[in-house]
Amino acid sequence: MRRINPVRFTVATRGTSREINRSIALNLVRAKQPISRADLARAMGVRRGAVTLIVNDLLRDRLIVEGAYGQTARGRRPQFLYIDSRRRAIAAVDIRATQTFIMLTDRVGQGLTGVVSLQTVRDPQKLAATIGSRVLALVADHPDVEGCEGIGVVVPGMIERSTTTVLHAPTLGWRNVNLREPLVAATGIDDVQIESAGRACVLAQAWGMRDDLSATTGPLVFVSVSDGLGVGVMVRGQVLRGRHNIAGEFGHVPLSLDGPRCSCGANGCWEAYVSNRATLARYFGRPTEPLGPGTPDQKAFTIDDLLIRARARDPRAAAALESTARYLGLGLASLVNAFDPSRIYIGGEITAAWDLIEPTVRSALVERALIPAIADTEIHPVNAGEHPRLQGAAALVFAPAFAAPEVA
Ligand SMILES: [Zn+2]
Repeated sequence: MRRINPVRFTVATRGTSREINRSIALNLVRAKQPISRADLARAMGVRRGAVTLIVNDLLRDRLIVEGAYGQTARGRRPQFLYIDSRRRAIAAVDIRATQTFIMLTDRVGQGLTGVVSLQTVRDPQKLAATIGSRVLALVADHPDVEGCEGIGVVVPGMIERSTTTVLHAPTLGWRNVNLREPLVAATGIDDVQIESAGRACVLAQAWGMRDDLSATTGPLVFVSVSDGLGVGVMVRGQVLRGRHNIAGEFGHVPLSLDGPRCSCGANGCWEAYVSNRATLARYFGRPTEPLGPGTPDQKAFTIDDLLIRARARDPRAAAALESTARYLGLGLASLVNAFDPSRIYIGGEITAAWDLIEPTVRSALVERALIPAIADTEIHPVNAGEHPRLQGAAALVFAPAFAAPEVA
């Protein structure tokens, strides 16, 4: 799926698909809304008549709506066009090893409700049934929402796109799990999209950039630090998947061959050094629990508590966090050496302490960077309050409507 650049594009001419112009118009409305028909025609470089046909098409399919009238010096006041983000909602679901989060969003990924959470049970059928009933309850509790048009789910694992099978989710202990069918059965909603958290997050960031072109010229990388470590890579507007849908799983690239045990069963993966579980294990001076719930004191004491203690200069917490920062930077150096990205996004609770860890992350990155220029690679922490994983889940449902049609 390729994102259309709303600033640099080539409008289709006679003989090429009218789908392309429709997609360009939709992306321009999204990027520049509110926009009048006249301005849309100017932006596309086509006649008013041609734009009228495309706009009528998009209005009929309820992808855009007409809103307020604009001001003009003379003549008829133009009626502005918007993306139809009212009423029809998307259910965004973020499954993590310990907890699952759900929120309803509009068709551009903005939250319509608060976030509800539930404990993640390991049985996929039971989990799907619980998620389904919570989604339906959320819709019922919000009468202004007309219905739910799709469910986007991010999981901490690798997904086979054609069958939406979870191939392997190490922190959940899942292999070849079909989550889609029980979710459809529980909700009656057919459009269920499932993707790895890292990939969904990079997709959502790319779609959220709008006119920000500075970062769209090169690859984008998203590193999601949570119970595990998810990575998503976007190259030339396409999410990198590879032949077997495991491309970009940098969380399981080893930093050391005899390092701590990882959730995938191997030793020394990047994830085993920088996940929240790894940071907490370092704080407690224990090996990382491979799977399953931690001991009671570890469960009660979260990464947020550790960050508070580190900020209050608790030496043990500060040291655990400092080590995580260094390992994070070393892994980022591998990513930068592999993809030379325009921008790296970091998501997860740890971003709340970005001011504390950034100098160490950067110095570790520079230490392993192949050329000095790499040192200024943009690193953007994404605030946990923006719910990047839920935005990623929503993007799985809405992005296809805006994506460039496949052409030769
Ligand atoms: Zn691993």
